[in-house]
Amino acid sequence: MELVLATGNPHKTREFRQLLGDDCELLDLSSFANIEMPDETGVTYEDNAILKANNISRRVDKAIIADDSGLEVDGLDGAPGIYSARYAGEKSTDMAKVDKLLRELKPGMNRSARFRCVIALARAGNVLGTFEGIVEGTIVDCPRGSFGFGYDPVFQPAGYQQTFAEMTAELKNRISHRAKAVAALREFLSEIGN
Ligand code: IMP
Repeated sequence: MELVLATGNPHKTREFRQLLGDDCELLDLSSFANIEMPDETGVTYEDNAILKANNISRRVDKAIIADDSGLEVDGLDGAPGIYSARYAGEKSTDMAKVDKLLRELKPGMNRSARFRCVIALARAGNVLGTFEGIVEGTIVDCPRGSFGFGYDPVFQPAGYQQTFAEMTAELKNRISHRAKAVAALREFLSEIGN
């Protein structure tokens, strides 16, 4: 089937392509002229995923998926959470976000953390479903690894010695929050006969 991922982030598109596999042709907004993403004004991941999927599905006549994701650190009361992408300011680099996170996490604070991802599926302004995935882990003291994106160099999933940025894409894609949310989406799509 054909799906359009409502994102301009090529890293996300690559991960979604790997996760969805060959039975799905995944386009993103780079295939469409003049379609800009709406502002993420929601107060939950679900709000933002729905807002993005709905908005794009009113302008692109295809099945649209949008995800909203973020990192929740227990010692920071769940920050950066839905503000993960903007944690060090709009358009901040991944390195600036990671640096800020490590600065905020003072010695003795609880470094338990999780990535959470919510995917919304919409068509013509109607939400068909939302799907959530979570991966638990911890924030390491110093960034390690060069794969992936975002906070990958400082997130070590529970049960592993490597950070996400030290893992192959194949391993990250077996255990990640996005992998779990995509698995739930795929199950839904197969139930409705796609
Ligand atoms: P959004 O879902 O586009 O709002 O972006 C969420 C932000 O959370 C990203 O820009 C990253 O900083 C962070 N994030 C979400 N998923 C991951 C991941 O798999 N690895 C590293 N950082 C992530």
